[in-house]
Amino acid sequence: MDQTVLAVDLGGTNLRVAAVASDGAITARDRRPTPKTGDANSIVQVIASLITDLRRTTDVEPIAVGVAAPVIMDLTSGRIDRSPNLPQLNEFRFKDELERVVGGSVFLENDATAAAIGESWLGASKGFQTSICVTLGTGVGGGIVINGSPFRGIDGTAGEIGHICVEPEGYPCGCGSRGCLEQYSSATAVVRFARELVKSGSTLSGKNDFTAKDVYEAAINSDPAAGESFRRMGYYLGIALAGLINLLNPEVIVLAGGLSSGWDAFFPETLRQIEKRAFRVPAGRVKLVRAELGDDAGLLGVAKVAFTSFEQGITGV
Ligand SMILES: [Zn+2]
Repeated sequence: MDQTVLAVDLGGTNLRVAAVASDGAITARDRRPTPKTGDANSIVQVIASLITDLRRTTDVEPIAVGVAAPVIMDLTSGRIDRSPNLPQLNEFRFKDELERVVGGSVFLENDATAAAIGESWLGASKGFQTSICVTLGTGVGGGIVINGSPFRGIDGTAGEIGHICVEPEGYPCGCGSRGCLEQYSSATAVVRFARELVKSGSTLSGKNDFTAKDVYEAAINSDPAAGESFRRMGYYLGIALAGLINLLNPEVIVLAGGLSSGWDAFFPETLRQIEKRAFRVPAGRVKLVRAELGDDAGLLGVAKVAFTSFEQGITGV
């Protein structure tokens, strides 16, 4: 019989769970809002009840559980080091606690690394051995796959592409540093650029509150301030990607996340910076593509982690 794992995507807004078969087919799914109040155990309880419900309604007997979460892990100690968006998880022994509650092996993975694995398994970087996935959303996440395996670094913290410095004395970042890519190439940054640039006459000038999507729509309708906001975002992204191309010589870079749908507004400037800054051979080699799995990339990626780890007899990180 085909084996199944349960994959959990722990997001800042929603907690999603899916039953995933070994070929990547999602056979059942469910979701609940992520608890905003309470301690880390309230998150564990919601995940446990989603898993219990899914097992009951589908009759699935999973071999393992994988959880993709917006966390910086400490692989050595097996606990979450930091979770900027879900601070109640800071220094929490998530894996141990969830294993105790649900019974069985739990594998935890950083959400952006999980997305990179998912795209590499079944999406835009399928068939490539060396890939980078950059998630452009409220923040900027990154995941690296080298020779077909996720690159996690010695402690599990690798791939924090959003915290590469692109402006040495630039905006302060939530990580404690300043000038990080996340402060320049995220949806938050696009909105901030637009606020700085919008003058009377712009289609955005009458609005008190606008989103990156509003800025994108104004940009494709030739609004100069909106266009410049996306050009800046693309400029900084290009600087970071040129560095990654020189460093890793990847076959493919996948751009994921909600802001990647603004591709035509930022990508020409990104490409210009790559052509200007990266070495000719790796810049000529790398394919720059949009993600294919959408919101399911992290779920599928952590399902793959759970299958692989289970097959290798690893009992979880
Ligand atoms: Zn940072």
